[in-house]
Amino acid sequence: MRLFVALELPEELLEALSETSAALRDSVRGRYVAPDRFHVTLAFLGEVAGTRVGSASSAVAQACAGHGPLPVALGELGSFGRRNSAVLWQGVEGGELLDALARDVRASLKDAGFSLDDKSFLPHVTLMRAADLTKGALPMPALARGVVDTVTLFSSDLSGAHPVYTPLERFFLG
Ligand code: ATP
Ligand code: MG
Repeated sequence: MRLFVALELPEELLEALSETSAALRDSVRGRYVAPDRFHVTLAFLGEVAGTRVGSASSAVAQACAGHGPLPVALGELGSFGRRNSAVLWQGVEGGELLDALARDVRASLKDAGFSLDDKSFLPHVTLMRAADLTKGALPMPALARGVVDTVTLFSSDLSGAHPVYTPLERFFLG
């Protein structure tokens, strides 16, 4: 199965992200991510045998044990990829605490034998895919602050019309 580890966000942040997404609807064409799928990916494991889920779960548990609740703030809009078919996201600022959490989760998964990419960690919430950024200006994003206290191991099923994420296990911070 396809696995990833992500932060689930507190209500204040989800509300602001929904506001940003609603504002984007008036100015950008593309595929919108439904608000119930908003998350911040810490590590993407890709296809993993079902028999290794337990091992992934222990690795994440071990990494999270050393971390407490995480104050975060929403930041600017940004994009990956081509201007006419971009991934459009809103940045998440969590400073050194968030960087350290992502580093520890990734290191722990690597120690357990999972292969992860070596891209530098740029915390964000994806709001749109296949976004056409060639026309018009982007709106100002809605901002918010909150405290994250949950890291979740998700499976991702891409076989349907839209991705379905299923929480397999949740790890509380602090
Ligand atoms: P779709 O691929 O259909 O657009 P999705 O990207 O939301 O949907 P997945 O591809 O299963 O679903 O990805 C789950 C999470 O992992 C998302 O946050 C995605 O951005 C991230 N992710 C996917 N592939 C990678 C990768 N190669 N490296 C880093 N993160 C990834
Ligand atoms: Mg994907």
